[in-house]
Amino acid sequence: MTKFYPQRVANEITVVLRSVGVADFPIDVRAVAMEISKQKYPDDPITVVKGSNLPGFEGALSPAPPGKIGWGIIYNNGVTSLGRVNFTLGHEFGHYLLHRKAYPNGFHCSTEDMATWESEYAQRENEANVFAATLLMPLDDFRLQIDERLRPDFDELGACANRYGVSLMAATLRWLQYTSRRSMLVVSKEGFILWARSSRAALRSGLYFKTRNRPPIAIPEKSLAANTGSATTSRVSCQFDAEVWLDQPCTEHALLSDQYDFTLSLLHFPDGEFNAGVFEESFGEDTADRIRSRKPGQSWLG
Ligand SMILES: [Zn+2]
Repeated sequence: MTKFYPQRVANEITVVLRSVGVADFPIDVRAVAMEISKQKYPDDPITVVKGSNLPGFEGALSPAPPGKIGWGIIYNNGVTSLGRVNFTLGHEFGHYLLHRKAYPNGFHCSTEDMATWESEYAQRENEANVFAATLLMPLDDFRLQIDERLRPDFDELGACANRYGVSLMAATLRWLQYTSRRSMLVVSKEGFILWARSSRAALRSGLYFKTRNRPPIAIPEKSLAANTGSATTSRVSCQFDAEVWLDQPCTEHALLSDQYDFTLSLLHFPDGEFNAGVFEESFGEDTADRIRSRKPGQSWLG
């Protein structure tokens, strides 16, 4: 099975880094982007990686001013989270490798662009995120940190976020790509679900929230997300019976992040069976067939 192109490009870089012994975590994206681009594209390299005033954006890929060659990766210097900055650098490096020829004016990328790990929103943003996630969090290493059968909490995923130099959200999304458990990340704000991502096993059994182009979905009244209290960072966990989330018993780990201004809920459901009826009703028969035919270990993004 051929891997999704952005994954292949990132994996090739990982192989190079490992072969020369500079693959320690976290990956130094700034150095890697400048060195790899200089070697692969000496006439069109990344010459600058720097912070700047970028209100409303996380990062940008910009062509050099007229008369100069190359590209610059710019990140918003108002962002204090090193993990967010690191992922942004990876995302913009992805745009450089994958998209710069088709988009000579470059990119300006928002917070939403960084959180978009699905192609239906914007294919290029998804590709840049897949590239960044693959480069920064190689799955062979991630699986050694958290076995695919475990149900981690935010402390365990946070340890991985630190290891890879990414945000907790990015580490959680990456873990969701390989876990064999029925789990889900729900991002909410002021009582409503902004978006949610399900693991493959959860998706197969009809456990998901569709939020795009839909009326807002209120978070369940009894959930932790609805009761996280004051606006300071806090981590709490609770087990619920079937009347709180999606008519299923689950464990919810919730984190109210003052840094992000939203609440993360990590839901772990008991193991269950693929419910094709529920799935086809929501996504259509073709998609259900495609997902059903995926092999274990195959990325949902791939
Ligand atoms: Zn982007």
